[in-house]
Amino acid sequence: MSSNTFDAIVIGSGISGGWAAKELTEKGLKTIVLERGRDVVHLKDYPTATKNPWEFAHRNKKSAAFKKENPIVSKCYAFGESSEHFFVKDAEHPYVQEKPYDWIRGYQVGGKSLLWARQTQRWSKYDFEGPKRDGFAVDWPIRYEDIDAWYTHVEKFAGISGNKDGLDTLPDGEFLPAWEMNCVEKELVNKINTSYKDRHVIQGRCAHLTKPNPVHLEQGRGQCQARSLCERGCPFGGYFSSNAATLPWAQKTGNLTLRPNAVVHSIIYDDATKKATGVKVIDALTKEEIVFNAKIIFVNAACINTNLILLNSTSKRFPNGLGNDNGLLGKYIAFHNYRGSITASYEGHLDQYYYGRRPTQVMMPNFRNVHKQETDFLRGYMVFFGASRGRAGADGVGVGADFKQALTEPGPWSIFMMMQGETIPKESNHVRLHPTLKDAWGIPQIVTSIDYDDNDEKLLQDFIKQGTEMLEKAGCTNIASYDSKQAPGLDIHEMGGVRMGRDPKTSLLNEWNQMHLCQNVFVTDGAAMTSTSTQNPSLTFMALTARAANYAVEQLKNGTL
Ligand SMILES: Cc1cc2nc3c(=O)[nH]c(=O)nc-3n(C[C@H](O)[C@H](O)[C@H](O)COP(=O)(O)OP(=O)(O)OC[C@H]3O[C@@H](n4cnc5c(N)ncnc54)[C@H](O)[C@@H]3O)c2cc1C
Repeated sequence: MSSNTFDAIVIGSGISGGWAAKELTEKGLKTIVLERGRDVVHLKDYPTATKNPWEFAHRNKKSAAFKKENPIVSKCYAFGESSEHFFVKDAEHPYVQEKPYDWIRGYQVGGKSLLWARQTQRWSKYDFEGPKRDGFAVDWPIRYEDIDAWYTHVEKFAGISGNKDGLDTLPDGEFLPAWEMNCVEKELVNKINTSYKDRHVIQGRCAHLTKPNPVHLEQGRGQCQARSLCERGCPFGGYFSSNAATLPWAQKTGNLTLRPNAVVHSIIYDDATKKATGVKVIDALTKEEIVFNAKIIFVNAACINTNLILLNSTSKRFPNGLGNDNGLLGKYIAFHNYRGSITASYEGHLDQYYYGRRPTQVMMPNFRNVHKQETDFLRGYMVFFGASRGRAGADGVGVGADFKQALTEPGPWSIFMMMQGETIPKESNHVRLHPTLKDAWGIPQIVTSIDYDDNDEKLLQDFIKQGTEMLEKAGCTNIASYDSKQAPGLDIHEMGGVRMGRDPKTSLLNEWNQMHLCQNVFVTDGAAMTSTSTQNPSLTFMALTARAANYAVEQLKNGTL
């Protein structure tokens, strides 16, 4: 038994689990990270990182056979022959879609931190105040001031590039130098910023080392080479991932045990102490059942799997899942509305080009309903866009030498714009355990019942109207808008189900991400989110995790836990 006993257990080694491991081991806790997938060692296990397009059987495209076998994961833009080894294949891990839900997963050491698009923005005070002001979900138990210093803490270590823009809707952080806009973007930004007093276009902030600081070099990471091949794993450690940053850092403390192929089945609750004693694990390869014990448990399996583990953690005291007296576990799941996009042409600047690639886009923080309610829908959306030049002749029409020559020249400038909308958490949007269907490890399959609502439709229409108008004012032509009608899930920003709140009757976690009813269990991934805001969520998961881990260590040391 003793070899299976630790100070802390972390379930999941992705973005949030990596942070839990780093903070807990740095503070001296003997910590085991239980990861259901295989090990992926930084540098060693990036087999496609330096391959050229012609070295892939289908030039890094998805083959028809693969798409047929994997209709869900094939929809993800980052999925291709060069990255398929980091994505869950549909048939291997089935789930039940009561309503269409494209669940994109990465089951390996590092989780989706290897695959993410690394866009990182802080939340603002308006985001934490939102549910209370607008009367939806429940009030966040924290405000911006509670997390400000923790954003700084994680930004310094992860390395975030960006400008100090001085916007209260998107607070500034600890930034490395920003990427540059190209000539057309600069012109567009200027025109939009002067046409609208309430809108501010800025360079996107992202977790890339534009100019590494000593702490990044100490991690063994180097400057981003702007290769835009990130989802293969980066041989330079140019972007932040658990594999390149937090896990090796935790390993260096000598306090980390990393256990891949460990599928967490459930958390074990002890009625006498009213605490969790450990977790039950099924070995992914041998199917052997193993118990690990610890004083504190961090659940970081990513939103839906975290919900699944807690729902499956039943006991005499908690027959409906750990800490679930109020019956709200698995409910109020929300996501980001990505359905709207706009394309356009931009005349001129044919004598100018840009060199290299860039891992971020230009963006505009939400400007809708920020200071007061102004529209017939709640909340708002963030806008991403960029200008680029394709290839002349890229429409594929032509033949012979002239056509080949045309393909070597840049084509005209085109604009792409997309929305990232807040969705309102609702009780009806939920996940639950299937009563009979199980996975290959004997764990119940999850049922997803998550959908858009009228608010999302109105928000989408508003983005299309406002986005079109902005591009018109900026002098664009051939403006066309699209509704992808994509199902929830493909945004890969799932949140909620184990929400934070002030009252155990209406929430599962307190202001420290600690379960109200089982105080040595902390949930610090997307499952904890009370609302979604419009910003990309992972930076907030990192900050909440670091904050909760430091609190947990304090509580352990002063004997409260
Ligand atoms: C293509 C793509 C682009 C994205 N772009 C962005 C972006 O630009 N900005 C942003 O903020 N976010 C982005 N995201 C989302 C981001 O990746 C996630 O928010 C983030 O990874 C969540 O961190 P996590 O720790 O909760 O989960 P993950 O990183 O997914 O890690 C969870 C880990 O838990 C493990 N696990 C699951 N179940 C169990 C179990 N039962 N037992 C043991 N281990 C388990 C998994 O295998 C996994 O390793 C993107 C995601 C993808 C795929």
